[in-house]
Amino acid sequence: MFIDDVERVLISEEEIDKRCKEIGAQISKDYSGKTPVVLGLLKGSIPFMAELIKHLSIDCEIEFMAVSSYSGTESNGDVKIVKDLDRSIIGEDVIIVEDIVDTGKTLEKVKELLYSKGANSVTVASLLDKPDRRIIDIEAEYVGFVIPNEFVVGFGLDFNQKYRNLPFVGVLKEECYK
Ligand code: 5GP
Repeated sequence: MFIDDVERVLISEEEIDKRCKEIGAQISKDYSGKTPVVLGLLKGSIPFMAELIKHLSIDCEIEFMAVSSYSGTESNGDVKIVKDLDRSIIGEDVIIVEDIVDTGKTLEKVKELLYSKGANSVTVASLLDKPDRRIIDIEAEYVGFVIPNEFVVGFGLDFNQKYRNLPFVGVLKEECYK
């Protein structure tokens, strides 16, 4: 079973639930009186996005974009927009929802694109943050958990498209990706 491929759980389902509630409350406070466009980056943001928006006590709209840069456990550094927005975001306050900020290249590219399309403001909510790997000087305004430089899967994060459905964030056994 795929769950047997997990060496250890890094962040439990309970911890994620609790943190999503806290971030949801913070965003609701910060965006009080506004209707932000909550923009999930497919596919990794899906579970985090679903959990987070349940805890927003303000009006919001949701949208998705797909961006690719990873293959296996390594980013190839070349960020491609696979699915662009199909609506105007001129004057909108956008909150990008990401699974993890690693090198920062994805966020740099998406933020640049959103501002070029006329967004009024762009912030980032990321479930995970791996600051040790950062190449671009960019930070998410809302971070679930800061993690060490390890390749993680679960709660949206994949290895070759698998393990996204794990309800926690964990580390795979070495033999599963070597
Ligand atoms: P960045 O552009 O910041 O280097 O990378 C962001 C993307 O890389 C994330 O959205 C995610 O898809 C992928 N990524 C970075 N680190 C990890 C990791 O530890 N595990 C998995 N599964 N994906 C990662």
